[in-house]
Amino acid sequence: MSEFCAAEASRCLLCKKPKCALQGCPVHTPVPECMLLYRQGKLDEAGELLFQNNPLSAITSLVCDWKQFCFGHCVLNVKQAPIHWYQVEQEISGKYLGKVILGRRDDSLLGKRIAIVGAGPAGIAAAVWLYQKGASVVMYDANPRMGGVLRYGIPAFRLDKSLVDEYERILSVVEFRGGCEVSDVAPFAAEYDAVIVCAGAEKPSTLHIPGEERSIQALPFLKEPSAFELGRKVIVIGGGNVAMDACRTAARMGVETWVYYRKTFENMPANPLEVEEAKADGVQFKVFQAPVEVRPGGVVFCDCENIVPEGGGRVVTRIIPGTEHFVECDTLITAISEKPDFLLLSGAEFGADGWPVVSDNGLVSGFKNVYVAGDFRLGPRTVVEAVASARLVVDAVAGNML
Ligand SMILES: Cc1cc2nc3c(=O)[nH]c(=O)nc-3n(C[C@H](O)[C@H](O)[C@H](O)COP(=O)(O)OP(=O)(O)OC[C@H]3O[C@@H](n4cnc5c(N)ncnc54)[C@H](O)[C@@H]3O)c2cc1C
Repeated sequence: MSEFCAAEASRCLLCKKPKCALQGCPVHTPVPECMLLYRQGKLDEAGELLFQNNPLSAITSLVCDWKQFCFGHCVLNVKQAPIHWYQVEQEISGKYLGKVILGRRDDSLLGKRIAIVGAGPAGIAAAVWLYQKGASVVMYDANPRMGGVLRYGIPAFRLDKSLVDEYERILSVVEFRGGCEVSDVAPFAAEYDAVIVCAGAEKPSTLHIPGEERSIQALPFLKEPSAFELGRKVIVIGGGNVAMDACRTAARMGVETWVYYRKTFENMPANPLEVEEAKADGVQFKVFQAPVEVRPGGVVFCDCENIVPEGGGRVVTRIIPGTEHFVECDTLITAISEKPDFLLLSGAEFGADGWPVVSDNGLVSGFKNVYVAGDFRLGPRTVVEAVASARLVVDAVAGNML
């Protein structure tokens, strides 16, 4: 046990109604129970409890925005320093993951064949729980290996890929068909007892400006940075976490890297910690800048300003006419948000917003046995929310089949 974690565990108030778990954490991690086990030196028991509740605990404890979740909801926030539970969780789950051997825990889904499309966090969590319930699980993924964004998006300097490898070992008991892109789930719906689509949100949004085809997208860049010849200067457009990973990756490749963002630092959706880390990696920022055209050798930007509507209301950022200026760069990377690609849900009912109609438990309207989870259901969110949505679907699948 690390001295720091032991001290944090002994400071924890073991709240009867823990806000960190009940309000802060999408998977309601049993923090007080695990803290107690940790204090008693029962690390494996704590690890087992965490794994059963959230199979991705070893990863979420590393990549969660803990200020938004557990840490930010600790009652000690008011008068003292909040508890660094996520660090205790990292120690427990990091050590326990290597010991996990997946077994059957009950036979409630024995004989049922379930297909999972997408082997990212949502698919992995669903596969773990379904296998434990006795189901025969087949996972399909367009990529050759499991992990989704954990393997192909989040850079290795933020997430040690050996942790992702552990999930391949743990799930070696289920059938994994890598390099298999599913174009339509309708035939699967006929073949399997249930289909769970966890295909993420990978379709990039576009800038809708002339010359945009000269830019590259952040996700393919993050998947294989060495495949791109960046030149000497890179500009990244965007202010979210994907933009931060892209700019940090470029900067760490030794390239002069800038982030151009159309609003202010306060408006950036990226975790402020990641912005600071990007600065520490040498990334330079320019705010209130909107791209209007991509030309050979650079980008035309306009200055922007915030307009506060008379009488109050939402602040609107607008381009200031006549402020066009050309900024040289060798590579433009766009990271302005992604959405799911619903082409594979051809038989589904869609709402006016273009999203499939889905019940609370993830069942897709138009099908009797096709469910959605993770970013494919929620849009781009977080690993822990992907796991929480997978839990809902697994419970629904199990409930419908009993
Ligand atoms: C660069 C980046 C950094 C991030 N950083 C963080 C972070 O620090 N903390 C955090 O909590 N969240 C972070 N997120 C968000 C988080 O990674 C996602 O919310 C999470 O991965 C969603 O899990 P998922 O299983 O729904 O989808 P994904 O992880 O996207 O996995 C989807 C899988 O489906 C497969 N697939 C897609 N279409 C098909 C098809 N037609 N046939 C077969 N397979 C298919 C894909 O190959 C992929 O493996 C980040 C996201 C990105 C892009």
